[in-house]
Amino acid sequence: MQSKPDSSCRHSETIGDALARARRSLDNRLEADLLACRALGCGRSWLYAHDRDPIEPLSRQALEALVEQRLAGRPIAQLCGEREFYGRAFRIDEHVLIPRPETELLIDLALSLDLPDRARVCDVGTGSGCIALTLAAERPGWRVTGVDCSAEALAVASDNRIGLGLEGPEFVHGDLLEPLSGRRFDLIVSNPPYVADDDPHLQRGDLRFEPSTALVAGPDGLDVIRRLVDAAFEAITDGGHLLIEHGHDQASQVRPLLRQAGFTRVDSHRDLAGIERVTLGAKRA
Ligand code: GLN
Repeated sequence: MQSKPDSSCRHSETIGDALARARRSLDNRLEADLLACRALGCGRSWLYAHDRDPIEPLSRQALEALVEQRLAGRPIAQLCGEREFYGRAFRIDEHVLIPRPETELLIDLALSLDLPDRARVCDVGTGSGCIALTLAAERPGWRVTGVDCSAEALAVASDNRIGLGLEGPEFVHGDLLEPLSGRRFDLIVSNPPYVADDDPHLQRGDLRFEPSTALVAGPDGLDVIRRLVDAAFEAITDGGHLLIEHGHDQASQVRPLLRQAGFTRVDSHRDLAGIERVTLGAKRA
């Protein structure tokens, strides 16, 4: 009787065979290819050019383990260990929110403001550092500070600063603006947690695997924004600005919060999906 091929016989398998299997399991060609690159430590052009080479057993096992985790729901960005944001690659892990395209609107708005060449800028809840580091990279004169209550997140942000070869920003540990008391900023930006405690989206997709401290903020999702708006008004210089990202249905609640805190020229801006996603306020002299 002919013995069945089992996994121990797969050492003669090629990279192309393993890739085809991963694509079938995931039913997603791009994700399978990205995971194969991760498992083999190569780029996509190398992967496609070497599809007839035998795959090393360790690489094959690594790919199978990644496919299994993806099938269990782990975000592709966590499995690949990085995500692109505003044209740069950021290392990420399970301690930080995965950078999202809608947050690029906040960057565009920050860069469009008329700020001093050496503006003092603070990113509250910096996470992977994608906002703080992007602003520092785009405006080398700006003095950027990123603050986060998670030490694990700050370790990721510091790694990203090294990866991008930037000297700034400084990263500070603490709750909102508390560790920076007495300091003043020309611009405060934030993508704070803003999902409501019982939002069903928390049980779906990538959100299940992201840190809840970066996502969830009380019964209406506005607990952190409420505290942040008041603290930010104190810390912003006369003539300075606040930019806050918020949920798809929160703009009409966030604008009054900014006005009550004392901000003027309060306005919400739409992301590429047409959703009011970032609200801007000014502190007039
Ligand atoms: N934009 C994220 C989402 O709804 C939430 C991010 C956040 O809370 N800051 O998926």
